[in-house]
Amino acid sequence: MKKRKLRVLASSIAAVSSIAASAIALTSCGGNNVTVPDITEKGTVVILATGGTIAGSGEAGKETGYKPGSISVESLIASVPGIEEIAPLHAQQVCNINSDDVTSKVWIQLAKTINAYAEDPDVAGFVVMHGTDTMEETAYFLNLAVKTKKPVVITGSMRPATSISADGPMNLYQSVVVAANPESEGKGVMGVFSDSIYSARSMQKVSTFDVTAIAAGPMGALGFVRNKEVFYYEESIKKHTYNSEFVIAPDDKIKQLPDVAIVYFAADADPSIIDWAKAHSKGLVVAGAGAGEFSEKFIKKLNGVVSDNYPVVISSRIDSGVITQDSVLVKKAVAANDLPAQKAAILLRLALSKGYTEQNKLIELFKQY
Ligand code: GLU
Repeated sequence: MKKRKLRVLASSIAAVSSIAASAIALTSCGGNNVTVPDITEKGTVVILATGGTIAGSGEAGKETGYKPGSISVESLIASVPGIEEIAPLHAQQVCNINSDDVTSKVWIQLAKTINAYAEDPDVAGFVVMHGTDTMEETAYFLNLAVKTKKPVVITGSMRPATSISADGPMNLYQSVVVAANPESEGKGVMGVFSDSIYSARSMQKVSTFDVTAIAAGPMGALGFVRNKEVFYYEESIKKHTYNSEFVIAPDDKIKQLPDVAIVYFAADADPSIIDWAKAHSKGLVVAGAGAGEFSEKFIKKLNGVVSDNYPVVISSRIDSGVITQDSVLVKKAVAANDLPAQKAAILLRLALSKGYTEQNKLIELFKQY
């Protein structure tokens, strides 16, 4: 146990010096070339920190008014009793930002970093620490862009580290437990939050403040974590990680994803926002009402912009249910299946990055992923 602790500290020292050397890169992270060190201890869990509330600091005891992404990864690890007993840890601060500032450049950097570490036989799994606001988006992106059967877990917290009863240390501990467990292999990217394990595809933020803010709606949890044990009951059958066609290799030249606009429909919404979207993006996702519906004037406008060069995907502002292709009101558009708009946009952006714009191809992808 003592030896493992030393390993954590050694990696912390390495991480501290690299943070000091790249302070500017941390605030504007993303799009950088990826180089990862050789890991020498078998079974190492690599912790990649990006910021968020889990690294948030504010007035002692308060849950609000704090600054996300203020505390370093090694301080966070040091605050979790017994974490060093689960597995050897290697920590890397990828960035330290509010997750609302995460961009496709950050996603790509994370995917390349994980794919580079994954080639190392001494790496057993990964934990990505992240703000909860956009955690589900990073999770779904990584689920499609990472090529490994090694467990990749994403976690965060709802309360800053300086609050009373912060939830971050437990979430980090449980995430390392899941990432170090061989039973977690091949399950795709998973979110671990408040004792539960979720698939990246189904997880969603469902509350502005609850410590159970990450959930998976009708699909539910894949399993649970209790102490150092992992209990699995379910599995996602959609394509991900090792059988995804959207993997981004460490030496891939891609720096960011094509822009996709999301338009949210509400009663009496002005459809001219669709013209703006068309002028500023390569594709569009509409969060319709109910089963992906909208007004006659929206239908008319969307029929005017959709084409095999400008794909339109129809999702819903409702969190539960499925959009079927035969119910899509704009016949050249693509049903998002059960993906919420923010995840449909990620799949569309990845499809566009491969040059897929044609309706039938996109319909197929939205069924598979
Ligand atoms: N806006 C912050 C973030 O996503 C706070 C949400 C959180 O981390 O819980 O980074």
